[in-house]
Amino acid sequence: MPGSIRLFVTGPLTAGREALLDRQEAHYLRHVMRQRIGAAIVLFNGRDGAWQARITALGPRGGGALPVEQLCGQKPEPGPWLAFAHLKRPASELVVQKATELGVERLLPVRTERSLAAAPNVARLAAIAKEAAEQSERLTCPEIAPAVHLPDLIAAWPAARRLFAAIERRSLPFPKGGSPCGLLVGPEGGFTEGELDLLARTPFVRPVSLGPRILRAETAAIAGLALIAAPAGGPI
Ligand code: SAM
Repeated sequence: MPGSIRLFVTGPLTAGREALLDRQEAHYLRHVMRQRIGAAIVLFNGRDGAWQARITALGPRGGGALPVEQLCGQKPEPGPWLAFAHLKRPASELVVQKATELGVERLLPVRTERSLAAAPNVARLAAIAKEAAEQSERLTCPEIAPAVHLPDLIAAWPAARRLFAAIERRSLPFPKGGSPCGLLVGPEGGFTEGELDLLARTPFVRPVSLGPRILRAETAAIAGLALIAAPAGGPI
């Protein structure tokens, strides 16, 4: 149903079993989108596909919607992972919104030695990812991992997933294709020599350039994700 209001819910979706809407969702439907009981919306939860549903309740504390027809079954949405250094709040929020639109499967905030900003508010970032997943007609919502230090990210990273590390002032062409993969973007101050050494000696890390100019971290994240998506003609 192109153009329908889409909501990501956490509970199961099955015909005839009312899905609960939280306070913000009920407020959004009632006061922002001016919907009333009986109106049609689309629900998805990342597990049960997309469902046409009818609003059954809208109140100040929440609401409900009854799934009536499955519009499509669940499809896998494999995408790149994005690890990004702690940035100021507006930049982190922009990165999460655009990365979700660009099909990222997992978002991993990382503390690096030159990260000046505090660890992001993961709940706030999750709300932004949810809204972007609804808007961009995804069937899944990316997971936001708890913030970790760069060495811990590298230690826990699955070796079969290549990690493209965006490093400025280098001539390192961005490879075409090849999934699964991830992108690592540094902080406004860039990576330190120690961090660059760690990346250089990690076999699954591939340093990549995003061109001759020095991009803001958020621009680098968006540009890198667009390059990863490009060989497939866009995000999967
Ligand atoms: N302060 C650093 C400097 O002046 O050299 C620049 C850091 S840049 C603002 C923030 C992050 O964006 C970098 O750590 C890198 O991950 C990424 N980045 C920016 N421009 C890039 C480029 N041309 N190629 C690859 N990565 C880039």
